[in-house]
Amino acid sequence: MSDGYAGYRSQLVEALQLKGIHDMAVLRAVATVPRHRFVPGTLEHRSYEDVALPIGAGQTISQPYVQARSCELLKLTGRERVLEIGTGSGYQTALLAMLAESVFSIERVPELARRAHEMLRELNFANVTVMHADGTLGWKPNAPYDGIVVAAASPEIPGPLVAQLKPGGRLVIPVGTREEQVLTLVVKDADGPGFEATPITDVRFVPLLGEFGFALPES
Ligand code: SAH
Repeated sequence: MSDGYAGYRSQLVEALQLKGIHDMAVLRAVATVPRHRFVPGTLEHRSYEDVALPIGAGQTISQPYVQARSCELLKLTGRERVLEIGTGSGYQTALLAMLAESVFSIERVPELARRAHEMLRELNFANVTVMHADGTLGWKPNAPYDGIVVAAASPEIPGPLVAQLKPGGRLVIPVGTREEQVLTLVVKDADGPGFEATPITDVRFVPLLGEFGFALPES
């Protein structure tokens, strides 16, 4: 993509490699997706730093390292059907669109869902569908999924999401308190409804608000 940012994207790819991201498809996606289009104009100059940035509505675009790590943990080959909870800016949705066959993404803030949908369409990501809803319930009509990635902090692993995974399917989710969480990899059993959960790394996400997440703040 000749948009004047290719050099910055290469530097970000190198930084992610140094931090331990090795999946070539993930690195290629980071080298390709124009992250500066997913952040507010006033922060565009910081869009290729490995940091989280505010995107409006009290939400953030997550740190590239955590987004890349989450994608890597799904072990995508290009043939999968993936569900994302917490579209936010739509940047990770774009990474997933390059790594999987189809991506369904749910965002609870209507304005963010609309903006992400428009940007993904402008950038010609045709294999993505964005929906405005409570993602803790999953998206049953399109289930089961090979992979699910949750980009907001949850007090526990939401049952509906595990139920909507294929046997052997992978779910990546930050689990903990509103203040601090552990990025957790959940692999569903091949022959039953059970799963194995593995802690990966400490993270800080905005809360997952909904029926199987944290309670909504009183208004
Ligand atoms: N991957 C996004 C992360 C955005 S932050 C990005 O990098 O831009 C997490 C997002 O999760 C926020 O936009 C927030 O509104 C959304 N969210 C929180 N609870 C949700 C829920 N129950 N369902 C869907 N989205 C939710």
